[in-house]
Amino acid sequence: MTADRLDRAVGAVLGSAAGDALGAPYEFGPAGQLSARGEEMRGGGGWDPGEATDDTQMAVLVAESLLEHGGLELPDVFARFQRWAAGQPKDIGLQTEDVLTNGMPWDLAAAVHFQVNARAAGNGSLMRASGSAVYFAAAGREATMDAARRIAALTHGDRAAWEGTALLHELVRVALDGGDPAAAIPAALDAVHPAHRDRYARVLAPDWHPDMATEFNGAVWPCLGSAVWALRTTGGFAEAVRAAVDLGGDTDTVAAVTGTLAGAVYGQAAVPDAWTAPLHVPLPGFGDRVLDATALRTLARRLATAPWAGPWGPRPQGPAPQTPAGL
Ligand SMILES: [Mg+2]
Repeated sequence: MTADRLDRAVGAVLGSAAGDALGAPYEFGPAGQLSARGEEMRGGGGWDPGEATDDTQMAVLVAESLLEHGGLELPDVFARFQRWAAGQPKDIGLQTEDVLTNGMPWDLAAAVHFQVNARAAGNGSLMRASGSAVYFAAAGREATMDAARRIAALTHGDRAAWEGTALLHELVRVALDGGDPAAAIPAALDAVHPAHRDRYARVLAPDWHPDMATEFNGAVWPCLGSAVWALRTTGGFAEAVRAAVDLGGDTDTVAAVTGTLAGAVYGQAAVPDAWTAPLHVPLPGFGDRVLDATALRTLARRLATAPWAGPWGPRPQGPAPQTPAGL
């Protein structure tokens, strides 16, 4: 583990949380609100200054499960999500809430929801990827993308969400290796399920702009596309995350995804101190636990240096969540 790689891993986790907290006050608002306000991390919209939302809370839950089990234990991740949802978080995606409370077992809940509702391609599995992306990066592309799909499938029955989450994990893996995520997009697309490749190729193309989105950026495709656009069209961490928030719409999540990528590229030192100082992550359902930036840095270091006993950790590979028929 080189110092640079560790620094980028911390950057991904810390950067995602910082983006989430920066964007939270502007969720569902119009474009340009962050710039118009002229101040940052001052809270608003029900959020305290520096308070991270469900994006980071769920990322922490995934990360802690991976560390405590020494690998991917899907029923445990699902149980932590359920405990958190029962703790009445301030923010929770409609679909995620339904899947976590519909009484179905972990390997069926999302699939059943998708079969009933037919729409499940939200960005809710993309937003919580920072910790798992850091953890699985050492396992290589295939294992990273496979793990990403399984974690996504816990709450999202639509394969579009799995593939987008897998792409984000892969781009983070490349960045942690010191590579350029944008340059890695063609190879990453080759590893995407063929039925979903074209649609991702469109939103990840160099000439794509968020104005070209055909859905609200709460959907998985424009959310990932916007994050990559923000990374590509700016020259630093803060600039990229600000650009993401200024797109409006699902500002906390687009900024959390952008922060994951930009943090992995630029490293933790690029995350402004003014953003990390007030940063905090409450964990509803888990007592009074609140992680600050120092706790997030420690968590990221543990994820990046976790000992490996195989592509899934020391546990045998278990069953994946069910795939709805016809996908
Ligand atoms: Mg949120």
